[in-house]
Amino acid sequence: MVKFPKQIVLDHGSGGKASQELIEGAFLPFFDNPLLRDMNDSAVFEIGGVKLAFSTDSYTVNPIIFPGGDIGCLAIHGTVNDLAMRGARPLYLSVGLILEEGMRGETLEKILTSMQRAAKEAGVCVITGDTKVVPKGQVDKIFINTSGIGVIEGDYHIAGQNAKPGDLVLINGTIGDHGMCILSQREGLGLETPLESDTAPLNGLVEAILKVCPDVHTMRDPTRGGVATTLNEIAKQSQVGIELWEDKLPFKESVLGAAELLGIDPLYLANEGKVLVIVPKEKAEDVLAVMQAHPYGKEAVVIGEVKPEPRGKVWMRTQLGSKRLIDMLTGEPLPRIC
Ligand code: MG
Repeated sequence: MVKFPKQIVLDHGSGGKASQELIEGAFLPFFDNPLLRDMNDSAVFEIGGVKLAFSTDSYTVNPIIFPGGDIGCLAIHGTVNDLAMRGARPLYLSVGLILEEGMRGETLEKILTSMQRAAKEAGVCVITGDTKVVPKGQVDKIFINTSGIGVIEGDYHIAGQNAKPGDLVLINGTIGDHGMCILSQREGLGLETPLESDTAPLNGLVEAILKVCPDVHTMRDPTRGGVATTLNEIAKQSQVGIELWEDKLPFKESVLGAAELLGIDPLYLANEGKVLVIVPKEKAEDVLAVMQAHPYGKEAVVIGEVKPEPRGKVWMRTQLGSKRLIDMLTGEPLPRIC
């Protein structure tokens, strides 16, 4: 059913409930087709017997350079990761730049150098692009769009719809690092050791996982909206419940400290180098071992389990043994986090 909001607010871009309502109420009805309706990190389709994945994302992060990365490498990693989440080997990227008049050449050079390095590490080529320049003040320094194509070479069926009761939920390391890094920069927290973004290409890690477990059920990178929102999406798409184990959730002490200071739940903070992997229980040990052996998975842990009921819900089993419902991100928009 077509349903447009009266006006667009920041929350529509937060990746939480409002974003989902905009997509379902305004975008899906206009462009409706089975591939779009699938609502996964990238669209998967076949051309001439070859299975391909296709994805796009725009990057508006503020500040454009931050500890651990910048808007350039973030734009490469984000699209590479969305392709990898379907089991695709990322191949080709497009890069669209929107630049603000007056931007310094050396800043642009820094960002492009970072994109070049990120593309090399991920093994992707930028094969087409576009540049627009707008008058001063009509964009903030630089916005980047990247789209990407990857090839799926195995018989994988990885999707938000495929989590099954009994599966275990794994993550490759600490939660909330990117979001808290950006927030602490903006809030000028002036921490002794600045928090670093976790931005990273995950295709190598995913390849290693698929080698030992081709029947991964679901993979998704918990970017905007964080682990809490992403698991809610999966619980709804798969019509399962997801239980998180509080005592297993990995956080950096520094992230927890800053989150407390700002009154923010780090489960809702964006990650840019993390993947939630949902696999059959009997495969979890092997998957965990290959994750921990990979540079981007050293701190991998099992954080929860998929349950048959209540469908579409995520909850936390707390250290005290009680249960707390974990909803999708609502309100409290954190604009321009990625
Ligand atoms: Mg994604």
